Amino acid sequence: MLRTILLGPPGAGKGTQAVKIVEKYGIPHISTGDIFRENIKNGTELGKKAQEYMNRGELVPDELVVEIATDRLLKDDCKEGFLLDGFPRTVFQAEKLDEFLQAHGQKLDVVIDIEVEKQELLTRLTGRRVCRKCGASYHIVNIPPKKEGICDICGGELFQRDDDTVETVENRIEVYKAQTMPLVDYYKKAGNLAEIDGSGDLDRVFADIVKALGE
Ligand code: AMP
Repeated sequence: MLRTILLGPPGAGKGTQAVKIVEKYGIPHISTGDIFRENIKNGTELGKKAQEYMNRGELVPDELVVEIATDRLLKDDCKEGFLLDGFPRTVFQAEKLDEFLQAHGQKLDVVIDIEVEKQELLTRLTGRRVCRKCGASYHIVNIPPKKEGICDICGGELFQRDDDTVETVENRIEVYKAQTMPLVDYYKKAGNLAEIDGSGDLDRVFADIVKALGE
């Protein structure tokens, strides 16, 4: 049983570490960004609403996000725990999550905050490429695929996310500072924050996360 959140700026490596965490602990990976991208791909109303905010690097309105996140948390696979990636992103969302957990007799175990310098974030995000088919993440310099433009895992096509362009990335980092960074204090006060240095080697970062979560 593990209930945890991944906090950190865009590009900190939340998605990459999330894959490793859910594999080790056998809990579902809930990424609100992934849910929105799936809806955009399928042309749903929710996708249409979310896309305009996402393309500008802004946050999707709280009410919309809280509803999709809590709906997801009600599913059976979350009974034994979950990893939230990219939610909550505002104090309002965090308060709503607390209310939800309290109403269901649940508590967060640990909140993982992965921190990385701004210049490094810019380099990582603008060089990121994602597999259209399986969602695996690469970097044109740091984690290149074996064959350019092709996913090592499933052979799918790699593409750049619409919100990974230089301008949008700058905005996403600013939005993070203004709206999401206050959550670091929020969870510090709650007493369950683990601060992790997200620079450098992926395996070292993962090892630090495992230390914080417990074997
Ligand atoms: P991510 O994949 O987590 O970087 O999310 C991509 C984009 O989806 C963000 O830049 C936001 O526009 C939107 N988004 C994802 N999660 C949230 C959230 N919890 N609150 C508001 N917007 C979100």
